[in-house]
Amino acid sequence: MDENLKQTGQKRLEAAAAELKKNNFSCSVHASSAAAAAYLQKLVGPGKKAGFGGSMTLAELKLADGIKAAGGEVITHTPGMDRDTKIKTWLKAQAADFYFASPQAITMKGELVLLDGNGNRVAACIYGPGKVFLVAGVNKLVGDMDQALWRMKNVSALANNIRLNKDNPCVKTGKCMDCSSPNRICNALVVLYKKPHSTDVEVVLVNEELGY
Ligand code: SF4
Repeated sequence: MDENLKQTGQKRLEAAAAELKKNNFSCSVHASSAAAAAYLQKLVGPGKKAGFGGSMTLAELKLADGIKAAGGEVITHTPGMDRDTKIKTWLKAQAADFYFASPQAITMKGELVLLDGNGNRVAACIYGPGKVFLVAGVNKLVGDMDQALWRMKNVSALANNIRLNKDNPCVKTGKCMDCSSPNRICNALVVLYKKPHSTDVEVVLVNEELGY
């Protein structure tokens, strides 16, 4: 990456971290995905359970493999699970020692914005287990809530529709059509304006483009 852009990313992440801390979130900034993954793996440690929400960011960090290699257990739904098994897995993930997910957007006012098709991930982030880690690359930073709402549908959801091979209208038009499709993936929106009282939330910011 261009050195000036790298420094720009670092400064923007540090500015966002300062605002997140004002909103009572713990926050750490990492220069690379490798550094962030090493930091998180060490915190989980052997014998602990880690619930995972679906996330390309976490996949790019190869965090599940790292946690398993360090003796931890990863709880997450997998493709092909039937509905009942999926729901049981989501509940187990929510009750784990740690929960990992990635928001679709973080505003420069330190607000976290998440949008789900099913709602399991946003539920765990509001009222999760011992500790929730929300991991995000520099590409998730936006100026304000309007930009966050635009990004989550016109960038995150569009890319996820393509990844999941969904036939929703945004895939054809290249922009959100606020559809009523039975396969719509934009159903449950959560904004964490401040840290929820009973949930320990740490935001892990990474100076790389990660996920959608
Ligand atoms: S609401 Fe529908 S059209 Fe809009 S991004 Fe979500 S799935 Fe696509």
